[in-house]
Amino acid sequence: MSIILWFFNQFFGYLLTRRHNMITIYYLFGPIWASFIITWTQRTIFHPTDVTRRSHCDWCYHPLTWWQLLPLLGYLFQRGRCRYCQTPIDPYSTIGELLTGYLWFLLHAQLAMAQLIFLTTSALILATTDYYGQWIDLRWLIGLLFIPPWPYPKFELIIGSIGLTILLITIKKRHWLGSGDLWLFGILLWCRGLLQTAVILLIACSLILLHPKIWQHQPVPFVPSLLIGCLIELSYWNGF
Ligand SMILES: [Zn+2]
Repeated sequence: MSIILWFFNQFFGYLLTRRHNMITIYYLFGPIWASFIITWTQRTIFHPTDVTRRSHCDWCYHPLTWWQLLPLLGYLFQRGRCRYCQTPIDPYSTIGELLTGYLWFLLHAQLAMAQLIFLTTSALILATTDYYGQWIDLRWLIGLLFIPPWPYPKFELIIGSIGLTILLITIKKRHWLGSGDLWLFGILLWCRGLLQTAVILLIACSLILLHPKIWQHQPVPFVPSLLIGCLIELSYWNGF
């Protein structure tokens, strides 16, 4: 037993002493955290009877083994299909894990671990409820205030915010947007400023156009696209 403890001590001690290894830990822990939050949201909100049940395939209900549950790798090992019934696996969780790993890697120098956890938890819960249920709990928007601020001129922000608010209210009156989307816009304006929010909006709208539902006149979840847009915009200004 003491040999195992010694090994773990040496192993993690080695990892934590080197900066690039610290980044690796962030990149590994991000997807694990994302996997936990997405599964928790899906189960507690959309399938409350499944909370204590073992993880299983959504189609054939066959219980999943440990390696099928590994974040990112489980999807790759099964080549995107259930091993038992060959039904394609919903890629939502895997994409969320990949993007969260990237976000943690991107912001590890700017935010503390607790801030990253709070930001990621809020973003994933908002995106998951919007993606599967077309609604969001506004209370979770508070976690998005940890999005790193952009040093924009205050005057530009005030004028721009008024203009954008009028535009968005007009859009809302025509029922193109939900009030949750408007609140999210407000937070993006507050954190990133007018120009960056416009860039995020452009990326999000471009992503929406790729969604097949928009062409069938069905409601399309906008929050995941906005959050991906924000990630791409942050990525650009962080030099990636
Ligand atoms: Zn199956």
